[in-house]
Amino acid sequence: MALSAEHEHQLRQASHGSIVALTGAGISAESKVPTFRGADGLWRRYRAEDLATPYAFAADPLTVWEWYDWRRGIIAAALPNAGHHCLRRLELAVGDQFQLITQNVDGLHQRAGTERVLELHGNIWRTRCTGEHHRVELMEQLPELPPCCECGALLRPDIVWFGESLDPGLLDRAFAAATGAALFLVIGTSAVVTPAADLPRLALAQGAFIAEINPEPTILTPIVHLSLRATAGEALPELVDIILDACTQ
Ligand code: NAD
Repeated sequence: MALSAEHEHQLRQASHGSIVALTGAGISAESKVPTFRGADGLWRRYRAEDLATPYAFAADPLTVWEWYDWRRGIIAAALPNAGHHCLRRLELAVGDQFQLITQNVDGLHQRAGTERVLELHGNIWRTRCTGEHHRVELMEQLPELPPCCECGALLRPDIVWFGESLDPGLLDRAFAAATGAALFLVIGTSAVVTPAADLPRLALAQGAFIAEINPEPTILTPIVHLSLRATAGEALPELVDIILDACTQ
């Protein structure tokens, strides 16, 4: 990864303030967890956009649960990769100057040890009662599909589906972090799902230095300060070295 002298200077300057990382499915790709929009994002003949919706669940909860069960199996077999570990290294070094915001539901950041994680879209290991209990539970082992709550209502994955609203409290914290960021890293997201995709734009408007890591150009590429055409596992080790070197000077 070759940074121009100007980019490295700007990155070092920004490293003295609050650091926010927004991650998407791409950071888990090197752990072999499929992204939604990649070629291996298809399950049977369904597209994710057709399964991760309240309408799909209402029409056919069994198929939706079978898909989540398939994804749970892949994630259970996956390990955090160099990208996840680098962000933990950053957190350990700068503490509460760091905030991780993820669109991922796989829990791999937490398995890498990261504590300051805002999971905007939920977590695949939790279930939520669709009936009167509304109870959210960590449920690593599922009973017979589709699983039911003790009240008799269906359980659903505790995930924000397309067409649903995000938790307003979490969203407030994410927007506050983006507003106060000096350095904003956008890692492995196509940045097409709002409101998550609004966060880097807000940080940019507030004067943050924005660095994107993605092997493909995205809709954000034309507006960010630095766009590294690399995988998270390739680019983050060196990027984090530079940030930490700058922080300790
Ligand atoms: P996306 O599938 O739309 O985009 C993934 C992005 O990652 C692409 O831009 C791709 O070029 C990039 N990418 C691929 N490999 C990469 C790598 N090794 N390093 C860095 N970048 C890489 O994903 P999204 O933007 O996160 O939006 C999709 C939605 O799907 C999110 O809401 C998320 O909740 C959900 N999702 C989550 C997971 C997961 O938890 N692991 C997996 C699939 C989808």
